[in-house]
Amino acid sequence: MTTETDAGTGAAPVGAAGSLSPSRAGDFMTCPLLYRFRVIDRIPEKSSPAQVRGTLVHAVLERLYDLPAERRTVAAAVELLGPEWERLLAEGPELADLFDGDGGDADGARRGAWLEQAKEQVERYFTLEDPTRLEPAEREVFVETVLPSGLRLRGFIDRVDVAPAGQVRIVDYKTGTAPRADFEARALFQMKFYALVVWRLRGEVPALLQLMYLGNGEVLRYQPDEADLRATERKVEALWAAIRRAMDTGEWRPRRSRLCGWCDHQSRCPEWGGTPPPLPLVPVPRVSPADVESAAREQHDV
Ligand code: SF4
Repeated sequence: MTTETDAGTGAAPVGAAGSLSPSRAGDFMTCPLLYRFRVIDRIPEKSSPAQVRGTLVHAVLERLYDLPAERRTVAAAVELLGPEWERLLAEGPELADLFDGDGGDADGARRGAWLEQAKEQVERYFTLEDPTRLEPAEREVFVETVLPSGLRLRGFIDRVDVAPAGQVRIVDYKTGTAPRADFEARALFQMKFYALVVWRLRGEVPALLQLMYLGNGEVLRYQPDEADLRATERKVEALWAAIRRAMDTGEWRPRRSRLCGWCDHQSRCPEWGGTPPPLPLVPVPRVSPADVESAAREQHDV
């Protein structure tokens, strides 16, 4: 579901008009310096067990819908965990070190507990909806559109359902737990971002946005309207303007918060006594195959 064919070719320069995904927009809102480390410096980060578990559970739920409807059972889904984990390991052999130990019994116990949690999340999915009664229109779909300003919005949507009458539902799986009420708006921002892209692509406002929290079995639903999506567009444009200002001035301010506890960059962050590396000479991100893959991974943030 793309409006342009150059995504992934490296052909899209980012100048006054750039490109933004919901995760990177979220990074900038969390901490501009974090955005810099990820997008401008492109400093590699180590995947956490929770992130990789998210990727595994997403992969299982995607594969589940390859099966004929009547075979989409809990047992069939749980059976997919092993092969999908093997596939992820083949694609990223570094995942073998995920548990960070010496490969001894403790590693094995951690891996076992981790897999058990993945199994619980897959099983919990079945308490939220019945996959034998669903036929998604699209899964893991890359969406991209360009706003009138030239700003490119892109990302991967876990699932798009289309009702017989044409209403669209956008579904996202989260392997964490549902946010407290004061963080709900933030969770919904990602969904409104996707809804804005789909609205621009299809010309129709999605009827429902659905966030499914497999960590605690809650579902957050929201019915957007056109005013919501126009407000989201203004917010995204304002964010991009702020990012451009930071690019122009080289000022990427750290914003300390409880999320620092999960940040891979404390050692180079002034808020924690570190010093950021010099800015790259050409801090111009481009859309490349790596970006597209990265966008696929972004959505599995827990
Ligand atoms: S440690 Fe905190 S303040 Fe520093 S870059 Fe990471 S998120 Fe930002």
